[in-house]
Amino acid sequence: MKINADTDRCVGAGMCALTVPEVFDQSEEEGTVVLLQADPPASMDAAVRRAVHLCPSGALSLA
Ligand code: SF4
Repeated sequence: MKINADTDRCVGAGMCALTVPEVFDQSEEEGTVVLLQADPPASMDAAVRRAVHLCPSGALSLA
């Protein structure tokens, strides 16, 4: 499962980084999402789906 992050849509809410800090971080300057892993292991699928669902701006999508 691959993650796409649209930094133009990201509002820096940080829900993703709070939910799965192994996969998502926020840039120091902009506060926008930084993907630490774009293709995390299947064991993280549930947590990643939760983070995508919690993102308030729709910046995250799965492929
Ligand atoms: S939860 Fe969404 S809006 Fe917030 S930092 Fe992550 S990608 Fe950006």
